[in-house]
Amino acid sequence: MTLLKSYENLDYSEALESSKEAHEWLEINDRRFGQLINGKFISNKDSKLIASLNPSNGDLLANIEIASSSQLDLAVEAARKAQPSWELLGGHGRAKILYALARLMQKHSRLISVLETLDNGKPIRESRDIDIPLAIRHFYHHAGWAQLQGKDFSSYQSIGVVAQIVPWNFPLLMLSWKIAPALAMGNTIVFKAAEQTPITAMFFAHLCEQAGIPPGVVNMINGDGNIGAELAAHKGVDKVAFTGSTAVGQSIRKSTAGQGKKLTLELGGKSAFIVFEDADLDAAVEGLVDSIWFNQGEVCCAGSRLLVQAEVAEDLHLRIKQRIKQLRLGSPLNKSIDLGSLVSKTQFNRVNKMVKDGLKHGGEIYQACDIQSEGNLYPPTLITDIDSSHPLAQEEIFGPVLVSMTFRTQSEAVELANNSRYGLAASIWSENINRTMDVAPKIKAGVVWINCHNQFDASCGFGGVKESGFGREGGKEGLYEYLKPKGLKPSSKITLSKITETAKNDAIDRTLKLYIGGKQVRPDGGHSIATFNADGRHAAYVGSGNRKDIRNAVSAASKASSWGSQSGHGRAQIIYFLAENLSVRESEWIQRLVTLCGVTKKQAKAEFDESVSRLFTYAAWADKYDGAVHNAPYRGITMALPEPIGILAQIAPEELPLLTSISLIAPAIAMGNRVVLVPSERFASVALELVQIIETSDVPAGVINIVSGNKRELAEQIAGHAEIDGTWCWADKETIASIESISAIDLKRLWVHEDSDRDWLDPAQGESLEFLRNATEVKNIWTPYGD
Ligand code: NAD
Repeated sequence: MTLLKSYENLDYSEALESSKEAHEWLEINDRRFGQLINGKFISNKDSKLIASLNPSNGDLLANIEIASSSQLDLAVEAARKAQPSWELLGGHGRAKILYALARLMQKHSRLISVLETLDNGKPIRESRDIDIPLAIRHFYHHAGWAQLQGKDFSSYQSIGVVAQIVPWNFPLLMLSWKIAPALAMGNTIVFKAAEQTPITAMFFAHLCEQAGIPPGVVNMINGDGNIGAELAAHKGVDKVAFTGSTAVGQSIRKSTAGQGKKLTLELGGKSAFIVFEDADLDAAVEGLVDSIWFNQGEVCCAGSRLLVQAEVAEDLHLRIKQRIKQLRLGSPLNKSIDLGSLVSKTQFNRVNKMVKDGLKHGGEIYQACDIQSEGNLYPPTLITDIDSSHPLAQEEIFGPVLVSMTFRTQSEAVELANNSRYGLAASIWSENINRTMDVAPKIKAGVVWINCHNQFDASCGFGGVKESGFGREGGKEGLYEYLKPKGLKPSSKITLSKITETAKNDAIDRTLKLYIGGKQVRPDGGHSIATFNADGRHAAYVGSGNRKDIRNAVSAASKASSWGSQSGHGRAQIIYFLAENLSVRESEWIQRLVTLCGVTKKQAKAEFDESVSRLFTYAAWADKYDGAVHNAPYRGITMALPEPIGILAQIAPEELPLLTSISLIAPAIAMGNRVVLVPSERFASVALELVQIIETSDVPAGVINIVSGNKRELAEQIAGHAEIDGTWCWADKETIASIESISAIDLKRLWVHEDSDRDWLDPAQGESLEFLRNATEVKNIWTPYGD
């Protein structure tokens, strides 16, 4: 007792890390940085400048030149020119250079840590022990992936020129997350650091030269959001990898619409920190220190929403307040502080205003020290007595501010955790493994930590769902973001003959209805469209769906959510049954394809056989596409689980209508999604005839829905529908541009293709793992063990 008391009275003396070497390096560079283009540092004395300041004291660190549009063009051109030989260098050649970069970063790690702290305001303890070691680990880890690329990704190739844009909260770590995998997979880069924190990127630029990166492979431009916007929309760029706010992510989704670019968006969050009554409360409090007070709360996945079971809420709040009192704020270079400076005065004012405005809606605030604006030190904060609709519970504050709410039951905890437009991360605190493993899959987020928070590693994928963006960084799953399948080639054999309407068919009039919620239903608008045989004769009428029909289909799909929690074995049985029921109608289907599509009997048989085989393939995968256990350096396991995306809309290609309908539906439902299929316009009747097979194969109502009609109109309704989680689309350029732009509203996952991008009859192109990857989203669940 006496001993404890004497500890309480202890104070810490200041232990400042020296910044001498860092300032010397800045002086050598005249405290001015331009652009790295084609291996050379380009400076222009007439450039507009941004001052990069030390946020803890306002001192000027360096002036940064804003890149001009013509400098941007030069950077993109250099990257384009350098790309083929960088890819051709091969995995081993690239591995050696990535390894050299890792070694160089390690050699200069102390200097880099100090530069990072000076520029960003984060405690030196964090840059020294977390940011920089993790950044280095990314280069080591991806040197390994470069070496393995030839064997592990032999059916993939590099994407080309990648634009990478990062925010200011983890400047060098975000750079490493982006640059290491892109380089490993043979891409070249135009990178833009955040205007507030470009210094360590400039240091890295010097290391690139020393590591032997060929000219043009890594280009770095500086500037604010304007040049960022120009870079993202640049026609010479094949992919944009962006980390930053959701609003800017949405604007990039719009500005790149129709450009055929691949996109990864790592955006904001409001992650839940869920504490059950059976949690180790002291461990949870320490977890909060690592979660919301790490990096001053300027962390996209900070556990900023505490959800605590009512029974222990009072106790936990008391412990948190006690802990807050012990947290030390101060000079970022002081080795014994817990929280440093927010990144800028602007950010300080933003956080301060958000909290003040938020409290007008109610809530009780606890801060143990006064808000000081000097040094932009914002105190660790707890806000209680609010509900989940409160602005402070919904909006990302991006500061050291924790809001707390209570729940009574496990299902209420899940509901509250998912009550957010974001879906980046969550942590679950409970000593009961059954409970944690039950809750983790129910949380809509890309990362879930069990009894820990803010764990990261290069071997584990990171990224969000919903408005936290899409795509993964890190882990094997992150590498596919920098690759594209090799050898896609449209079939030259398939040409769609032009229809000229001739005589009416003698057969009885057929009207094929829409298929929604397990029932054949008339289209809401009461309109039908005539479809024709290949010889021009009238074949049948098909329903012409509208916005209401899409809504009904989505609502039916929504009710069928238990499909996702069925076992893979259970789903496989139903897909096998579909194959069985289709195969017994072989002659009828072959005749149908001949009559409708104008193909020969042999071609129709090939399409039919491949369709049955494809159902078998995805029935087989249903219980075998089962994720991974990542090898992160900690005592625990990280499971990378492929989860269904949810409700997936699928706009089918025009050709091979039986095979393409099945090629889309089967992988999606095998992975547990529910689908709304918009079939080929010309051959809609083929997909609608499939209803007879679906109805006799025990497919639960709502799992497969088919809405025929005008592709463009239906695609646009789908893009704007908030309950659709993802969309696959084969359509013309204009339709793709339109849905890419509309879907910016809720950042839906898209997988889009121009019509006829592949030979569907070739299994290598028409049934690859690419389909399963696009039917799933990887969730990484971190589970530490031991004392
Ligand atoms: P921001 O979106 O304002 O800026 C991020 C970067 O984008 C900067 O480099 C900026 O210059 C650039 N930019 C700004 N406008 C642009 C435009 N129109 N087009 C292209 N580029 C543009 O974000 P911020 O305030 O710097 O960073 C904080 C945000 O970043 C938070 O929302 C946080 O959650 C998010 N973040 C997410 C992750 C993640 O992995 N999900 C990681 C870190 C930060």
